[in-house]
Amino acid sequence: MPGKAAEVAVVGAGAAGLAIAWQLAKQGHPPYVFDARGAGEGAMTASAGMLSPAYEAEFEELSLLRAMLTSRQRYPEWAAELGDIGYRPSGTYELALMPEDVPYVQRRVAFEQAQGLTVEWLEGAALRKRLPHISPRIPAGSFAPDEGHIVPEYLRDRLVEAAQKLGAVFHSHTPIMRVECTGSTYYLHGPAGVYEAEVVILCVGVPTEGLELPFRVYPVRGQMVAIEAPAPDWLPAPVRYFNRMMGYGYAVPKPGYIILGGTAEEKGLDPSLTVGGLLDILRRAYFVFPDLYESRILRTWAGLRPATEARVPLFYKVPGQRLYYVNGLYRNGILLAPLVGEGVTRWVLEGQLPDLLHPFSVERL
Ligand SMILES: Cc1cc2nc3c(=O)[nH]c(=O)nc-3n(C[C@H](O)[C@H](O)[C@H](O)COP(=O)(O)OP(=O)(O)OC[C@H]3O[C@@H](n4cnc5c(N)ncnc54)[C@H](O)[C@@H]3O)c2cc1C
Repeated sequence: MPGKAAEVAVVGAGAAGLAIAWQLAKQGHPPYVFDARGAGEGAMTASAGMLSPAYEAEFEELSLLRAMLTSRQRYPEWAAELGDIGYRPSGTYELALMPEDVPYVQRRVAFEQAQGLTVEWLEGAALRKRLPHISPRIPAGSFAPDEGHIVPEYLRDRLVEAAQKLGAVFHSHTPIMRVECTGSTYYLHGPAGVYEAEVVILCVGVPTEGLELPFRVYPVRGQMVAIEAPAPDWLPAPVRYFNRMMGYGYAVPKPGYIILGGTAEEKGLDPSLTVGGLLDILRRAYFVFPDLYESRILRTWAGLRPATEARVPLFYKVPGQRLYYVNGLYRNGILLAPLVGEGVTRWVLEGQLPDLLHPFSVERL
């Protein structure tokens, strides 16, 4: 109801906002949660749900790797507490598609092992024993056994239920277009009126047009295809693949289907599917798994990943105020959700951004 006061308002019910809302509710501070669309209808449910720190961090991103590893370790407990989020600790494969790609994939393994991660190098024959449906042309790859994946829609539903059960109130289809502060009260301007709150956490990912943020968010479009799985358990774990010419792609098993992704395109707010994008995704997948040729396409979609200029997360508290910004989760918001939910809740309630998130605070950046 517009005008009604909440202690905490969370703006944006995506991967970050839902994780924060649940944690705040668990600590006895159930927030009001606003979303311009339905909960999770931004990047969250467009995602593949991979929990893959080993293959996500680039060579120079050690702080991000540490944050991702810690967050991934929280998933078994989150799954036990939340219920069915489709959590599978399956491990993840990364394949070199051509002999010339082997040095790059090998170099990544050396980097991951140097960081203390368990990653196995597998030559073609050993790889095919684990992944019998990959093409005989694939020369080698690696396996990170500690990784996993979840079903983003399940995670969204469980987080909403858990937060609601503890008193959080959801306002869907309520875009917040402006936040003003008078004294110690924030006024959130929505289409049907103004909401009041004492603390505001803005985690809007790619913001709706018209909402001004004090930093720039770069939308990075990802196109995706869901196809029928040829048989149950046909794909035992997410498989990521790299080729210098064809680029990067992945196949991720879900209950009864397989997600093929994903492009990374800077096209502003345009959520279109394109001939080129789908062609790239399907050509790569067909190269890796020739048996998929006859698989039926079930669904196609595109989502916008929220990236900062430096492509790292961003945590910002306006000095002297109780207004927080959480953004820039880019390709890893599902993986980072536990750390972000728990860390931001501590930041808001205890005044301290946890050490693992500190490298991404605006002051630090
Ligand atoms: C194709 C694709 C594949 C991906 N795969 C993975 C993966 O395998 N693993 C992984 O960890 N991550 C993955 N990601 C990234 C992950 O989805 C994002 O990092 C994550 O969703 C970002 O969380 P967020 O809460 O910041 O933004 P979002 O999840 O986008 O949530 C932001 C919410 O804010 C709302 N909002 C915007 N403006 C307003 C406003 N003015 N008022 C109210 N509400 C507003 C939006 O409607 C949205 O629901 C993928 C993303 C894409 C697009």
